[in-house]
Amino acid sequence: MGTACTYCGSDVERHDPVYVTEGENDSADRARKFCNYACLSEYIDDENLTAGSACEWNPQS
Ligand SMILES: [Zn+2]
Repeated sequence: MGTACTYCGSDVERHDPVYVTEGENDSADRARKFCNYACLSEYIDDENLTAGSACEWNPQS
């Protein structure tokens, strides 16, 4: 059981999970889930989510 990391597929609840939603209307089960910020940043790198200002990706908010 548990929730799989969006990036690496590990059970995030065994780590220090980070949940990322894309908008105010996103429900928790649509959120992206990561083991930790390392997986989150790797995922962002892989998806090139930081490329282009149109994305407005801001995990700090
Ligand atoms: Zn992970």
